[in-house]
Amino acid sequence: MIDTVVIPERSGTAFKLDKGATLTVIDPRGEQVADLLAFNAEDVREVISSGRTLDYAETIRLTLGNKLYSNRSRVMLTIVGDTVGCHDFLLTPCSIDTFLHFYPDLPPHRGCFGNLAEALAPYDIAPDAIPIAFNCFMNVPVDGQTGKLKVLPPLSKAGDSIALRAEMDLIIGLTACSAPDSNGGTFKPIHYRID
Ligand SMILES: [Zn+2]
Repeated sequence: MIDTVVIPERSGTAFKLDKGATLTVIDPRGEQVADLLAFNAEDVREVISSGRTLDYAETIRLTLGNKLYSNRSRVMLTIVGDTVGCHDFLLTPCSIDTFLHFYPDLPPHRGCFGNLAEALAPYDIAPDAIPIAFNCFMNVPVDGQTGKLKVLPPLSKAGDSIALRAEMDLIIGLTACSAPDSNGGTFKPIHYRID
């Protein structure tokens, strides 16, 4: 029996993921984003890279079979399961500045960025080292003609998941996202398990 871990709404965590292990990120209620970061456990200056990954994949729609690369062009994670097929790797983690920019009338929240910064601090990862996250279940359609993008509710339903296999020893940061528009207007937990 493998335990499922709960990330409460609007929070985040960090943990080690050994090479060969598979991390399954689960949206237990549907329409909830989880920001995922990965760092090389042996040298945290090596970090997940949106730019490398999108370049090599030749698409912004990453799903089963796609690999997530580091800033050193090495594969960190391979997507080995995906029941949704819609994730984002363009946008940075939501932060207090996101709230000030988009939601000036709402109480500001430190967002995924603040949650990740706190969770990663014990691993000697500073806030300035936090890159674009792989945003599990985030729905950011891009108009191919104009380049205009939107943040729409996730397509994930209750119980949907994405599974990623570690291709090196990693430190993972993972959140239950805090931004209203990313999550269909409500904040839910995220579940994960390691196999
Ligand atoms: Zn967020």
